[in-house]
Amino acid sequence: MDNIYDVIIIGSGPAGHTAAVYTSRAELKTLVFEGWQPGGQLTITTEVENFPGFSKGIYGQQLMTEMKAQAERFGTKYISKDITKVDFSSRPFKVYTGDEEYQSKAVIIATGAKPRRLGLPSEDRLWAKGVSACATCDGFFFKDKVVAVLGGGDSAMEEAGFLTKFATKVYLIHRREEFRSSKIMEERVKANEKIEILTNKAVDEVLGENNVTGLRLKDTKTDETSEITVDGMFLAIGHIPATDLFRDQIELDKVGFILHKENTMTSIPGVFAAGDVVDHRYRQAITAAGMGCAAAIDVERWLAE
Ligand code: NAP
Repeated sequence: MDNIYDVIIIGSGPAGHTAAVYTSRAELKTLVFEGWQPGGQLTITTEVENFPGFSKGIYGQQLMTEMKAQAERFGTKYISKDITKVDFSSRPFKVYTGDEEYQSKAVIIATGAKPRRLGLPSEDRLWAKGVSACATCDGFFFKDKVVAVLGGGDSAMEEAGFLTKFATKVYLIHRREEFRSSKIMEERVKANEKIEILTNKAVDEVLGENNVTGLRLKDTKTDETSEITVDGMFLAIGHIPATDLFRDQIELDKVGFILHKENTMTSIPGVFAAGDVVDHRYRQAITAAGMGCAAAIDVERWLAE
């Protein structure tokens, strides 16, 4: 009986914590599984300056600690384990951490997404030593330096433009000739004198011992290699939602993000989703928190009905 909850929340980023504040405050017996990276992506950023209510900024880790404490204050229980299996085929829903089974009347999935990476050993070695996937977080460190942005979508365009505020020069590197981004963002990048666009190029290796010093590029048409000197490389090649656990049970879009069917409810009545695991457009702490709140309210109303 101890393992039966009104709502189980999977994930502990801004969406999961906010949902927990709302459900536990509504006196629903709430359990949060913190997952492999408690606090989500915000715990690997530095200062968050755009979360309303913190006029002097707040560190991502501290913001998550505060959110968790707020949920615990209203009775939310946290378990620092990974969910290994879910069974949404009948109610109560079942989730498992290895051999342990937990049951709940409703579930909120808030497992987030992580930036897609190239998969190069040199990219791993120089991660956070010039390689980043967040211009908003790390752009400031590249004041008066030269950086490269990878990708041809809206994120790449946006990040390249943003980085020209700090960097003296920004290379935008894309593996094809045509861009996936909206025309207006592409035009803006093309009009920016600080940005040099390199098309039909893939990164073969990130160069540098202790910090990024350059990139070896391979022409995707001719296989010819060349090198450029840069101090940083920003990946903007999409995000991978953490939905492997749910793939066979709930409806996902073609990239793997969860689809909402009615408000924040997924294709399974009683299973809700919030944050970056659904949202590939805004991906902000505040929008994730907002959606977590919405999911909690939807759970409350659904259980009442
Ligand atoms: P995206 O649209 O999926 O674009 C990813 C880009 O990365 C594509 O150009 C893709 O190349 C490239 N890419 C993928 N894997 C790669 C690899 N292994 N090596 C090299 N390049 C690779 O992702 P996004 O730009 O993050 O945008 C996601 C969604 O958010 C979109 O719907 C976008 O419109 C939205 N968004 C909107 C705004 C805005 O409106 N302000 C800002 C940001 C994002 P290919 O083109 O060859 O596949």
